[in-house]
Amino acid sequence: MDMDKLVSLCKRRGFIFPSSEIYGGINGFWDYGPLGVELKRNVKDAWWNDNVKLHNDVRALPGAPSAYEMTGLDCSIIMHPRVWEASGHVGGFNDPMVDCKETQQRYRADQLYVFGVSSKNSPATEFRVEGNLRRLGDWAEHWVSAVGASVLDAWEAVKPRAAKLAKTKPDRLEAPTPATTVLYLDIAPEDRARVLGPNATEPGTLTEPRQFSLMFKTNVGALEDASSLAYLRPETAQGIFANFRNVVDTSRVKLPFGIAQVGKSFRNEITPRNYTFRSREFEQMEIEFFCHPDESEAWYKFWRDRRFQWYVAHGLKSDKLRLRDHDPDELAFYSKATADIEYAFPFGVSELEGIAHRSDYDLSQHQKFSGKDLSYLDEERWERDKAGLGFSSFKEYLKSREGQERPGYPYQFVPHVIEPSAGADRATLAFLCEAYTEDTVGGEARTVLKFHPRFAPIKAAVFPLVKRDGMPELAEKIYLDLKTHFNVFFDEKGAIGRRYRRQDEAGTPFGITVDSQTLTDGTVTFRDRDSCRQWRVPSAGVVQAVRDLLDGQPVPAADPA
Ligand code: ATP
Repeated sequence: MDMDKLVSLCKRRGFIFPSSEIYGGINGFWDYGPLGVELKRNVKDAWWNDNVKLHNDVRALPGAPSAYEMTGLDCSIIMHPRVWEASGHVGGFNDPMVDCKETQQRYRADQLYVFGVSSKNSPATEFRVEGNLRRLGDWAEHWVSAVGASVLDAWEAVKPRAAKLAKTKPDRLEAPTPATTVLYLDIAPEDRARVLGPNATEPGTLTEPRQFSLMFKTNVGALEDASSLAYLRPETAQGIFANFRNVVDTSRVKLPFGIAQVGKSFRNEITPRNYTFRSREFEQMEIEFFCHPDESEAWYKFWRDRRFQWYVAHGLKSDKLRLRDHDPDELAFYSKATADIEYAFPFGVSELEGIAHRSDYDLSQHQKFSGKDLSYLDEERWERDKAGLGFSSFKEYLKSREGQERPGYPYQFVPHVIEPSAGADRATLAFLCEAYTEDTVGGEARTVLKFHPRFAPIKAAVFPLVKRDGMPELAEKIYLDLKTHFNVFFDEKGAIGRRYRRQDEAGTPFGITVDSQTLTDGTVTFRDRDSCRQWRVPSAGVVQAVRDLLDGQPVPAADPA
């Protein structure tokens, strides 16, 4: 699928617009148009419904270690600045950045690859490694750089240019190997002058990598000084941790339980790109799932598999989806395991969602920075075991274990956290990419968005075949009936084929047409978006028929013409 075609359809049909377009746009910010806002809301609602409302606190769901509870929060975007010190974002949430003095472009140094190019057959000399840095070998005549999410992406971008420099054809160049590729970040400073920046004409125009904070800063109140400094949240998770005590104390939830939040996050990304994939303002759908440390690995597996299946169930084909477990050396020091759910976007395989086993790191950090007790007392377990242990009170038990690292264990502890963290914009973009289809119907080419019915912005469109013989009035009545249940659309203008085609592009699963047969037997024509099959339904049963189809009832065979 060609990304440019999707972007142009999204603009033309009102799914996504560049933010502030009448002023030339602003890089990394996007607006959802009339169809886009419905699509994204459906994605978020489905996520909330399936993860928060559909949990089971009575019986274990298939694959779950036990029953569990879920609840929600909606926290403020600006929080106390100490939150971001505790979370490690102040000071730690940086990306290394490189500027090009010639092209004025800015790049993320950890995505800027350098390739050796030689017109001779390149002897695969290894880089000389000095400490953590690498010295460029002398075998290459040119060292050219390109940006990419992976070595191969970057290589594709630089290939035509490299071929020109080596005076050869692109397909005669050797594919990059670890011996011929290095990250700009890892090159010894004295070698940086030899590197030709992406699109630059002279080598040596790239600056030294500099740390760049991804946090948007602002000031709270009238004074603009250090005392009023605050940040726009770069993730929704910390609002959940900061409210852990409040939720436990007020909502009677018992471990294991999760708290979910959907909301905006902000990151001053160095190179926003790939449409909405990497934006500076975006929405996250996050769960912090709190559990007993002894059960955390089982819960990690449950969430990792459950979240992967959610995308499959909503139409992302499994050959385009990948569940990538992080290697031990990729893990943060506190994380026991992390997996990314990745999707093969037209611009490369990229992360949709991360599921992380975060141990007790976040709550312990907030406990340390706030001075508040964020431990959990498992009263049920204590009541069950205390007689057998021979203690009459928990205090006594604590006393007997004085000096131990975790005296309250296994009854009182800082819960472990499993965090499934998804992006609403990235999920929406993946569903758009998957839905985009070009096919031919009755000899005519069409573009159709084959959304899962749950996500379709408009569920059904109602058409009078012609604007006479009472058809518009009958169609209007059906439209108004449907409208109280679903988001539907009424269109009486133009040829019926064109009206169908417009709804195909909007991803509307069903068309309902009032035609001359309606006037005689009271039935209307239903048309299925994907197969274009048509069949008849009594007008009085239209609402139920749409509901059944949206619920997954198979599309009937076409009526004989
Ligand atoms: P990346 O490596 O792509 O920058 P990340 O690993 O930093 O992502 P997390 O901090 O784990 O991302 O955020 C969780 C989720 O939030 C991501 O899986 C993604 O869906 C979404 N997300 C993160 N950054 C952005 C962004 N700049 N634009 C859109 N969505 C984002």
